Amino acid sequence: MSPLTCPQCQRATFSFWQKQQLGPSGTLQCPACGARVEVPTGRAMACILGFVLIDALAVIAASLINQRLGYAGQWQGSLITAAALLLPGIPLIWAYYRFVPLQLASTP
Ligand SMILES: [Zn+2]
Repeated sequence: MSPLTCPQCQRATFSFWQKQQLGPSGTLQCPACGARVEVPTGRAMACILGFVLIDALAVIAASLINQRLGYAGQWQGSLITAAALLLPGIPLIWAYYRFVPLQLASTP
């Protein structure tokens, strides 16, 4: 079953980016059957917290690398910090897509 499949009508009616924008407090309406779907709060929060934690560690590592290489306050340092902020997002966006399932909304 695709991670974008509606849990009620079993059709893949949602887009990748619709799911990415669906946070733990929001719902989406299936355009085929009208069901409201959400993501499980616990798994969505675990993914978001994992992202914040890994991003923070990457930025700390980038800061240490910049100090070691003498790039602090220079454009090379900004580039390394930007890469540290953005690169962990790629596997985490995929993990959110793949491991946080859609489920019928508990509140209509
Ligand atoms: Zn549906």
